[in-house]
Amino acid sequence: MLRVDKIQKTFDGFMAIKEANLRVSRGEIVATIGPNGAGKTTLFNVITGQLRPNQGKVFFQEEDITNLPPHRICRKGLARSFQIVNVFNRLSVFENVQVAVLSREKKTLNLFHPCANMYVQETMDILKKVGLAPKAGDISATLSHGDQKVLEMAIALGHDPKMLILDEPTAGMSPEETAQAMALIQHLCTELGLTILLCEHDMHFVFSIAHSIMVMHQGRTIIQDTPQKIREDPQVQEAYLGDAVAC
Ligand code: ADP
Ligand code: MG
Repeated sequence: MLRVDKIQKTFDGFMAIKEANLRVSRGEIVATIGPNGAGKTTLFNVITGQLRPNQGKVFFQEEDITNLPPHRICRKGLARSFQIVNVFNRLSVFENVQVAVLSREKKTLNLFHPCANMYVQETMDILKKVGLAPKAGDISATLSHGDQKVLEMAIALGHDPKMLILDEPTAGMSPEETAQAMALIQHLCTELGLTILLCEHDMHFVFSIAHSIMVMHQGRTIIQDTPQKIREDPQVQEAYLGDAVAC
């Protein structure tokens, strides 16, 4: 479904990505792991069009999407959430998701168009899927950090994607919130048939839910394989996972 070939990305001469390669098949959960600064977020930004690579290609469903602007990539069915929470704080939970649905339908929420009553059912359905329906009327700024991260996923779902890219979906979450987010991501994959690419520091999380893991180090993809193979790889074990694999 997604193929990333030999991506290179520099910032003012600094090579943040030297060579990244990635394969994601339909229906899979793929995790990208690696130390801070390895280039994971930069790679996600290249895939979703926020950044242009210096070299390399990104293919989504066999189509070359390299250098397309983010909104065009999103319209093709590739939606994302960010490492830093990115919601409209002053809008309600409901409105945040409704705005995403409206934008997908090329409509905007403003005073001169009666959009407030549009896509109400679809918006509520999405909130139900992620468990935020009881908080639909809450102002987003008042949500817990964990709920804000889940709201970000709901916003991404508002774009009706085929594939979701989640940058550190459990960052800053409590253990209970992390367990809930993990169950939700698994649900999105198995029940809704979404393909998911994520980057995550929590190794227990990664090894529990990923079908395939890509390891990045200092801007390079060093391996992509099944969790079992990654676990057994002595180089990976020693350099990046250490004791974390044992848990
Ligand atoms: P990760 O997500 O794996 O922690 P990042 O992709 O955020 O890593 O960063 C990779 C490297 O690129 C880091 O050294 C970071 O400082 C650098 N970098 C990321 N974004 C920029 C930017 N906009 N300008 C300059 N350097 C950047
Ligand atoms: Mg990052």
